[in-house]
Amino acid sequence: MLAELIQMLAEGRVEVVDLTQPLSERTPVIRLPEPFVNTPGFTLEELSRYDERGPAWYWNTIHAGEHVGTHFDAPVHWVTGREGEDTARVPARRLIGPAAVLDKSAECAADPDFLLEVDHVLAWEGSHGPLPAGGWLLYRTGWDARAADQAAYLNADESGPHTPGISPECARWLAEETPILGLGVETVGTDAGAAHSFDPPFPCHAHLLGAGKYGLTQLANLARLPPTGAVVVAAPLPIEGGSGSPARVLALVER
Ligand code: MN
Repeated sequence: MLAELIQMLAEGRVEVVDLTQPLSERTPVIRLPEPFVNTPGFTLEELSRYDERGPAWYWNTIHAGEHVGTHFDAPVHWVTGREGEDTARVPARRLIGPAAVLDKSAECAADPDFLLEVDHVLAWEGSHGPLPAGGWLLYRTGWDARAADQAAYLNADESGPHTPGISPECARWLAEETPILGLGVETVGTDAGAAHSFDPPFPCHAHLLGAGKYGLTQLANLARLPPTGAVVVAAPLPIEGGSGSPARVLALVER
């Protein structure tokens, strides 16, 4: 079976779609209001570049918060999951799974505060079948088109950020009543921009991580995935005690 997969990859019958945003000093990061501590973004610090510091080699130190760019949220990231897995304790087997792709990009273009509801997911299941056990729900909002511009990506005004997300009831339902492994989004975090004022605040974090499920954020290229049938490989670094990690996220798609 793996030989067949290799053959299909070689012939382009299985495409590898990169769901990862590039990492640089321009990669957008979430901005929390006072008095909360913010995360640094991503920076490179040069150690040597074929010079007197290292004549034949080029290398850097990387600086970044765990939750920068396309990244993985481990259960221990949230207080509701504090007894759960840290990033290094997530079993490798759980980092590969089927994807269900739910597209609300038209709705989010019309309303940046659009929230996914249980009925939207039930309607998707009516067309495509049940959400996959041990799989990712990938929520397409069109927000990846803004990822090169921090201001457009965070879309904040005096009332705070305005980016699409998931309603508190839908977040609870996904966490407790569906067999998904986790939730992947195109926005800076799994929760809506306005989720600071939801009940509970940040319900995707509270419910999903509290249920031992995972988050993937700042995904790219979800538009290139079918509603069902793709396989996602999410690869956070195994940071011991870590709450998350920048991740390379790939999808295998049969063509
Ligand atoms: Mn995060």
